[in-house]
Amino acid sequence: MRLRFAPSPTGYLHVGGARTALYNWLLARRSGGSFILRIEDTDLSRSTEEAIEAIMADLRWLGLEWDEGPGAGGEHWPYRQTGRYALYQDAARRLLRQGDAYRCFCSPEELRERREKALREGGNPMYDRRCRAIPEEEARRMEGEGRPYALRFRVPEEGETMVRDLIRGEVVFRNREIEDFVLLRNDGTPTYNLAVVVDDIDMRITHVVRGDDHLPNTPKQLLIYRALSKEPPAFAHLPMIVGTDGKPLSKRHGDVAVGYYREAGFLPEAMVNFLALLGWSLDDSTTIMDRGTLVANFSLDRVSSKPAVWDTDKLYWMNAQYIMALDDRELAEAVKPFLVREGLMADDDPRGMEKLRLAAPLIRERIKVLADAVPLLAFLFREVETEEDSRDFLEGEENRAVLREAGKRLLELENFHSKNIESTLRAMVEEMGLKPRRAFQPIRVAVTGSKVSPPLFESMELLGREKCLQRIARALEAGRDAAVS
Ligand code: GLU
Repeated sequence: MRLRFAPSPTGYLHVGGARTALYNWLLARRSGGSFILRIEDTDLSRSTEEAIEAIMADLRWLGLEWDEGPGAGGEHWPYRQTGRYALYQDAARRLLRQGDAYRCFCSPEELRERREKALREGGNPMYDRRCRAIPEEEARRMEGEGRPYALRFRVPEEGETMVRDLIRGEVVFRNREIEDFVLLRNDGTPTYNLAVVVDDIDMRITHVVRGDDHLPNTPKQLLIYRALSKEPPAFAHLPMIVGTDGKPLSKRHGDVAVGYYREAGFLPEAMVNFLALLGWSLDDSTTIMDRGTLVANFSLDRVSSKPAVWDTDKLYWMNAQYIMALDDRELAEAVKPFLVREGLMADDDPRGMEKLRLAAPLIRERIKVLADAVPLLAFLFREVETEEDSRDFLEGEENRAVLREAGKRLLELENFHSKNIESTLRAMVEEMGLKPRRAFQPIRVAVTGSKVSPPLFESMELLGREKCLQRIARALEAGRDAAVS
């Protein structure tokens, strides 16, 4: 199988595009075939180099490496449509010679006016095919005069074109309802429908797997294949992705850029697992599947034609499952870039890494995305600044008594291990006649700066005695200042 992902680089990679790329990749890997990346950049006004770079970075992050395409080489170079215009022009000339295409001299303004008029009058806004009737000789003469023209495909007026879709079955289009679509614009640039067919033929694509928003294009593409006497590839149109409200997934439902999920700290493996299930299932119950399982089992037979629901809660849940499955070292590695990004750690910091590895068990079950680790672990990497809504815990006679007493006992503690810290502090609150839950809060706030932290005693051990005592002392001082002022 030879499959391709063919993004138009007009913006970031959308999660829907990522699902399309993933399905193509899975089919290629499963069949031992090839996965090709082709950049469809013929829309010069909207395509950018940054978008190409960003799309490639997101695909790499998801682990969807391509066998042919930009940065990977391949015999069908270049894998960017702007470098392939000669091929499209050749095909268009051939269609013109054969009589499958004709020159249309209508100007864009005329076309727009006629379209708007038809819409106003409740008529058919499709191109009225008027230039079809211009005799070839006349059309050549007009061309010779330098009149600009577009090339249009001569769609048969009778009959039907059937798409045999691997997911939806047979979808029939009446030719009468297909417009004489443009192949080459009057500036010589190709349209999507022409370029995609020429490229899919040239790159020997066997299966076109793409979003079902392209289904109306497929009969047009089939007509071009037929006119060029080429066997079309198999087609599979993936179901639309909708939000939990049943409406097409959009920004209203949250973020739709793959980059957003990367930056929020989703693991690529969780993302791949989640995307795979947007329209496909292994059976009725399995949800967690690693990449190997997906590659071994993925098939179009089990892709549904019903819209797939994007459930953000499920994505968070799934990411948490993948985080829980990481060992200490893996979790430390995964969290590190987030601490670096916040300036809490240097990129090359072996001691910081060691601290992170020791902290991994404290956060593993408390975070849903990697970025959640930052507020939880910041206290290990910088001096604390007590959060606004936690300050109360450092004030009042009872809180201050707890802090004073804790400082004293922790100083005397023989071994600064979490178990010892715990038994000492528990004995202390009991002797003081306080409730543990409540009494530990001032200590937590003093040491971590927040009333929400990883488990207290383990956190204290990790931070070390010296720092704990310093912070408790500082909290007592700050509390005194507050009382004085
Ligand atoms: N460039 C098209 C898009 O981004 C690709 C469609 C196709 O796969 O044929 O939607």
